[in-house]
Amino acid sequence: MLRTHKLAEADRIVTLLTRDHGRVRAVAKGVRRTTSKFGSRLEPFTHVDLMLAEGRNLDTITQAETLTSWSSTLGNDYERYTAGTVMLETAERLASEEKEPSVQQFLLLVGGLRAMAAGEHRPAQILDSYLLRALSVAGYAPSFEHCAHCGLEGPHRWFNPSMGGVLCATCRVPGSASPSVETITVLGALLAGAWETVEAVAPRNLNEASGLVAVYLQWHLERGLKSLPYVDRQRA
Ligand SMILES: [Zn+2]
Repeated sequence: MLRTHKLAEADRIVTLLTRDHGRVRAVAKGVRRTTSKFGSRLEPFTHVDLMLAEGRNLDTITQAETLTSWSSTLGNDYERYTAGTVMLETAERLASEEKEPSVQQFLLLVGGLRAMAAGEHRPAQILDSYLLRALSVAGYAPSFEHCAHCGLEGPHRWFNPSMGGVLCATCRVPGSASPSVETITVLGALLAGAWETVEAVAPRNLNEASGLVAVYLQWHLERGLKSLPYVDRQRA
């Protein structure tokens, strides 16, 4: 469940990321009544098993069973909640076509929310790892080893989101960032899920990496995500 908004008196439109049908918008009738049989199951941060009745414009939810709800765990922790919200928004934006299957995006999101709720790693790094992988699945895989332009083997010290990752001394373009070697290493580790490397890096490198992930994400999504500025990068 990605997002809900009010429709008629007691109804809501819910936006879902489904395993087999990609992003789906559907009407949940009567969910704002206290007697609704599945109202609380249709909140953001819940993994639900749904039955949909196909409609002319929008489908209607006829049944909902909660499989897992991360909403209270994430809702009680500002840092995890804001990071989780960026994950939901990113998943919605990357699954831009309705009903286009995106099993990998679905599994990445479920895995990311589960790790966030379980507190397996720091929220900022779970978010960054999720974002890099989700962008890769969507076709925007960044390169942190080879030069993103000519393919020359690294390590390289310039980074430019518009070029797709790190750049060698020949290919670097004006305005490229020049992060530290450790930061580029941790970016590669976040993308690969190499958590031992991530955990061993100093906070300032994690913060620098988070900033570059945010720039990379925003470049590819064209306009900024609403919730991103609220993620507290300094506590990472
Ligand atoms: Zn190059």
